[in-house]
Amino acid sequence: MGETQEKFFDVAVIGGGPAGIMAAGRAAELGAKVVLIEKNRSLGKKLLMTGGGRCNISQAEFNDKKFVEKLGKKGQFLLSALSVFGPEETVKFFEEKGLRTKTERGKRIFPASDNARDVLDVLLEYLKKNKVKLSLGQEIAGFNAKKGKIESVKLKNGEISARSFVLCTGGKSYPKTGSTGDGYEWAREMGHKIINPAPALAPIETEENWVKDVQGLSLKNVGVALFQNNKKQDSRFGEMLFTHFGLSGPIILDLSKKIGELLAAGEVILKIDLKPALDILTLDKRLQRDFKGNRNFKNYLPELLPQKLCDLVARFAEISPDKKLNSITKEERKKLIGALKGLKLTAKRSVGFSRAIVTSGGVDLKEIDSKTMRSKIISNLFFAGEIIDLDGPTGGYNLQICWSTGHAAGTNANRQISAIV
Ligand SMILES: Cc1cc2nc3c(=O)[nH]c(=O)nc-3n(C[C@H](O)[C@H](O)[C@H](O)COP(=O)(O)OP(=O)(O)OC[C@H]3O[C@@H](n4cnc5c(N)ncnc54)[C@H](O)[C@@H]3O)c2cc1C
Repeated sequence: MGETQEKFFDVAVIGGGPAGIMAAGRAAELGAKVVLIEKNRSLGKKLLMTGGGRCNISQAEFNDKKFVEKLGKKGQFLLSALSVFGPEETVKFFEEKGLRTKTERGKRIFPASDNARDVLDVLLEYLKKNKVKLSLGQEIAGFNAKKGKIESVKLKNGEISARSFVLCTGGKSYPKTGSTGDGYEWAREMGHKIINPAPALAPIETEENWVKDVQGLSLKNVGVALFQNNKKQDSRFGEMLFTHFGLSGPIILDLSKKIGELLAAGEVILKIDLKPALDILTLDKRLQRDFKGNRNFKNYLPELLPQKLCDLVARFAEISPDKKLNSITKEERKKLIGALKGLKLTAKRSVGFSRAIVTSGGVDLKEIDSKTMRSKIISNLFFAGEIIDLDGPTGGYNLQICWSTGHAAGTNANRQISAIV
C-alpha cells in the first residue's frame, strides 16, 4: 500500500475512518487513482474501539424503510444509498473477503471472531488490493476552492490536487481518536450550512454517588423509564451498565438524547426496573411464597439479584440484612418491590463529546444529493459518514451509515471523474 509523495489524483479522500476507507476503496475498485489522507499515523483508530472492541458492523434489518425509521425524521435521506449498499451488501462485502459474521440479540451484526481488528484488516486489504495510496500523519489544513469547485487540499507542506474530493473527517466525539470536527469548518467555509454538532449516544452522569459502589456491573434484561414531573416520558428495555460517574450501556445511550432535551426543562428521574418480566402483583406473590423460612434476608437476596446490587437494594428497602425472611412485614415487602421495580436515579448531565459514541448534527442534508453524496454547492465535493447530519441509535446503525454513504460517495466520485475524462 505504501505512503505516497505523489501530488495528482483522480479522487482524494480526507479522513481514514470507516466512511473514508469505504469511499477510497470503492472509487479505486472502479478504476480511479485514489489517495486517502489521514492525520493519524494509522487508519481506523475509532473503528478499533467500536462495540467494546468487538465492532458491531451493522444491523440485520434488511427492510430499508424499517432501517431508516430508526434514524428519525432525517432517515429518509439514507434510503437511496441503503438500497444500493445496505446491511445485506455489507455482510456480503465482508464475508466475501474472508470475515465471518454473526448476528446477536437485537439484530446486531459482529465479526464471528469478536475482534474489531479483523474488520479493519479486511478494509486495509481492500485498499491495498485496489492500490489506494495512503498519506498518513498528514493533517489537512483546508481547501483551495474557486468558483464552486475545489482545486486542491492544503497540507502543512504543499498541497494535493484531485478531480474529486470526499470529505470523511467524522464528528467531534472521542476527539482523542482524531475526530475533532475539522471538516465542519471547511464545509462551512465553502458555503455549507452546519447543523449544530451535539454529543449523541452519551453516558449519563447521575447525582447519586452510590453508582460508584456498583461500577462495572452490567444488567442484561432490565427496563429503564424516564420521568419528568412524575410523568413517564420514554422507556427502553435491554442492557445497561453502571459506571463510576453514572450510567451507560445501550439503553442508556439510546435514551441520552431525550434525557438531554428533558434536562433543559427540569429534573429528570430514571427508574430502573430490575424485574421487568414480573408485574408488581406476580412479584409480590413470589416474595410472599419465598418469605417463609427463617433464613437471613441477606442470604436470600442473591437468588433475586446480582450480588453487587444486594446491599444497595436492602438499604433502599430499609430491611436489615440479618432479618429473618419470615419476619419481614408487608410494609417492608412493599418497599422492596419499589426498589426492585423502580430503582431511582437523578440525571445530572450527559458526559459530552469526550465520551459520546456519535455526534448529531453536521453538514445539512438539504445541501447534499442523497443518491450520490455530492455537495449541491461545490461540484466536485462529496461527503460520507458521521460528518453528515445523520445519526442513529446503538446496534450497528452508525457504521452502516458510514458503509452506505462511503460506498455511494466512492462510486460517484469515480463516476464524476469518468465523465470528465
Ligand atoms: C467507543 C465507540 C464505540 C462505537 N461502537 C460502534 C458500534 O459498535 N457500531 C456502530 O455502528 N457504531 C459505533 N460507534 C460509532 C462509529 O464508530 C462512528 O459513527 C464511525 O467511526 C464514524 O466514521 P467516520 O469514518 O465518519 O469518522 P471517524 O471514524 O471519526 O474517522 C474520521 C477520521 O478523519 C480523520 N481526520 C479528522 N480531521 C482530519 C484532518 N484535519 N486531516 C486529516 N484527517 C483528519 C480522523 O483522524 C479520523 O481518523 C462507536 C463509537 C465510539 C466512540
